Amino acid sequence: MFFPAHNRLPLERNAYVILHTEVRSERVRQADLTKCPFSSRFQSIRMTVPEPLRTPIPQLPGMTPLRAEQFRRLGLFRARDLLFYFPRDYEDLTDRRDLKDLEAGKLQSVQGTIDRWTSRTTRRGPLTTLFVHCGDGYVKAQWFNMPFVTKPFEVGRRVLVTGKPKDDPPYWIMNHPTVTYLADDEEIDTALEPFLPIYGLTEGLTQYHVRRTIKGLLPGHVPLLDEVFPRPFLEDHRLLTIHEAVPAIHFPPDRTVLEYARRRFVYQELFILQLALAMRRLQHRTHFRATPLKSTPAIDQRARRLFPFTLTAAQEKVIGEITADMERPIPMNRLLQGDVGSGKTVVALYAMLLAVANGCQAVLMAPTEVLARQHLRTLERMLEGSRVKIAPFFGGQRPAERSAVLQSIAAGESQVIVGTQAIIAGEVAFHQLGLVVIDEQHKFGVRQRAALKTGGKFDPHYLVMTATPIPRSVTMTLFGDLDVSIMDAMPPGRQKVKTYIPRPDQRDDWWKFVRRKIEAGRHGYVVVPLVEESEHSLIAAEQWNRGSSRSLADPPLPADSPTPRPVAARSNLQRSAVDVRSLRDVFESLRDGPLRGLRLEMMHGRMSTEEKERIMLDFRSGEIQVLVATTVIEVGVDVPNAALLTVENGERFGLAQLHQLRGRIGRGKHPGFCAIFANPTTEEAAKRLRAFERLTDGFKLAEKDFELRGSGDLFGTAQHGMPPMRIADLIRDRDILVEARADATALVRDDPGLARPEHEKLRRQMLARYGGVLALGDVG
Ligand code: ADP
Ligand code: MG
Repeated sequence: MFFPAHNRLPLERNAYVILHTEVRSERVRQADLTKCPFSSRFQSIRMTVPEPLRTPIPQLPGMTPLRAEQFRRLGLFRARDLLFYFPRDYEDLTDRRDLKDLEAGKLQSVQGTIDRWTSRTTRRGPLTTLFVHCGDGYVKAQWFNMPFVTKPFEVGRRVLVTGKPKDDPPYWIMNHPTVTYLADDEEIDTALEPFLPIYGLTEGLTQYHVRRTIKGLLPGHVPLLDEVFPRPFLEDHRLLTIHEAVPAIHFPPDRTVLEYARRRFVYQELFILQLALAMRRLQHRTHFRATPLKSTPAIDQRARRLFPFTLTAAQEKVIGEITADMERPIPMNRLLQGDVGSGKTVVALYAMLLAVANGCQAVLMAPTEVLARQHLRTLERMLEGSRVKIAPFFGGQRPAERSAVLQSIAAGESQVIVGTQAIIAGEVAFHQLGLVVIDEQHKFGVRQRAALKTGGKFDPHYLVMTATPIPRSVTMTLFGDLDVSIMDAMPPGRQKVKTYIPRPDQRDDWWKFVRRKIEAGRHGYVVVPLVEESEHSLIAAEQWNRGSSRSLADPPLPADSPTPRPVAARSNLQRSAVDVRSLRDVFESLRDGPLRGLRLEMMHGRMSTEEKERIMLDFRSGEIQVLVATTVIEVGVDVPNAALLTVENGERFGLAQLHQLRGRIGRGKHPGFCAIFANPTTEEAAKRLRAFERLTDGFKLAEKDFELRGSGDLFGTAQHGMPPMRIADLIRDRDILVEARADATALVRDDPGLARPEHEKLRRQMLARYGGVLALGDVG
């Protein structure tokens, strides 16, 4: 339909017919997908691609070795790769005019030849001027203060100049237009091609080269492309065929068709991913076995008796979902999202008690030792007087202690094991592991889950908990193999936290206020983004810089541990290290200044475990009134009497971190007060802070963050081991995502294993892209 004119197909077409049939005749072995859809033998599946599409780029007609090498640098090796090398943008040439028809002030394009150009420095800075001869007159293009527009223009070359012209007889002047070189023989018929594709380039390659190469391939190669979707499916979903969509995405005849072409590929990309996820869920249901952990009224009562409060409706709902999961012989695979302070620990405890009551062991893992130890204390307190035996497992344990713990775990004496990720280092052998709870680590992905070996022939149930609000479109993709529970309400009596972003001159007032509150019995945190201004802190500064560009969905960094990454941009770091107020500075100036006489203490990640533990206990008991700390307190720390939070250099924190930090206060019966002192240097940073001041709901903040930064690589597909999205944008294409997910789920329900012949191509594409990655996640 939108196909560029191709009255004559190249000769290879005939050759192809034969080759293609040959390739087709050696049929790929039919896979019994319902049995084992992702086993490694499928990774070797090759799609049957007709010969011309597989032609190595160096062998394409008219290709020079140099150009082929440039394409190779872009990761393009074969003819087919070029067809799927989509433009990253388009030059809008919709309004192409002759010189005499130009209108002032409207975006238009005009074609001509470069006549002459100059580049000089004026009092107002560098000025580059270009005269383009267009029939019976000139367009004078000029660039002010754009020193990078100084590379020589090629006199005599044909160009298309696009910009908003100004009538200034005898010229039409265009300020800062775009100039597109046309090859001598290149005729761009803007009626047919009103959008000129703009491709990602590499050194030495021009837009024209890419454009011409791809355009040359379209007529001969597009008809050879295989349509993965069955025809009725395309019609039902209003999708262009591959044969319409490929030419249209390179050379769209109009905006509507461009949108349709893009939609086709976005849909396909998301649909294939959703198919893979649906298959993974299916595989999970059919291939993995867990010990069913059944609840009874007696077990339920025994568990509830241990809680000093009535569960909230949100907690009840989630416990219902978890209990239903755990009593099945299939491993639970659930992500529990609940804002900071919503009471996830109790839910985890309930699940663990259920495992123990069924004669199984349960593991609770936390990202930091501070948090793991807090969990240990909470569990020990709540389980006091019960017969449940708890074992701590930390990285820093002494050998004797550790081997005793390992032994009691292996023998099944320890029923609940609490610790850090050290538990999955492979050393721990379980007696019968029934449940794994992973706290505050939504990035604890498929891979890590696979690393945890149970010892038995059953897989454990998994509960991954996070306060990180993950936008729905992300849970539907990166976490698409997990069931999601959301805890959307807080325990009763939860106090409001008031947030301020004070001006520097309001500092004294804030500290006076803090002092009054502390004298009235509250506790407070002061959070500072650096340990000290030393060599070491440069590294930390780099980490903080990264920290400030982190997203809400990022995991908490291991609390202020120095990053192992090499420090590259030294001078920048030095600068940032200097303007960061160090922990000790802040501590001393508060102790000797506005908070004199109060009991202050300092805590950071490089202190020993015992020391941190002592400080946390003293802070909890009130022995310490103000804790000046790095983000060691960032996640999960629960001290009900803490009501004040001061953050220094707030611009260095991501929204997620600020939200986590704010979650440390207002947890008891007293309202919380939070002040962020910040010097935002970018508009985005300022917007983030304003959003933070206004919004307290983590999910709303996450959406805001998502919106402010765009999806980009925010959610680090790579860290999840997933191939990156090539064309889909999780924000912009959310509607398509929802549609693709529903369609994929329905298709897998309808044709489990995608065994029907009309689904074979979809199945193969899905396996080629995700089979390997998701197979890595095979648990057990
Ligand atoms: P988070 O979801 O951030 O991990 P926690 O589990 O630490 O939250 O709970 C926050 C605080 O709320 C804890 O002090 C906990 O004891 C308390 N809490 C949890 N559930 C309830 C409830 N149903 N009623 C009252 N307080 C609760
Ligand atoms: Mg918690």
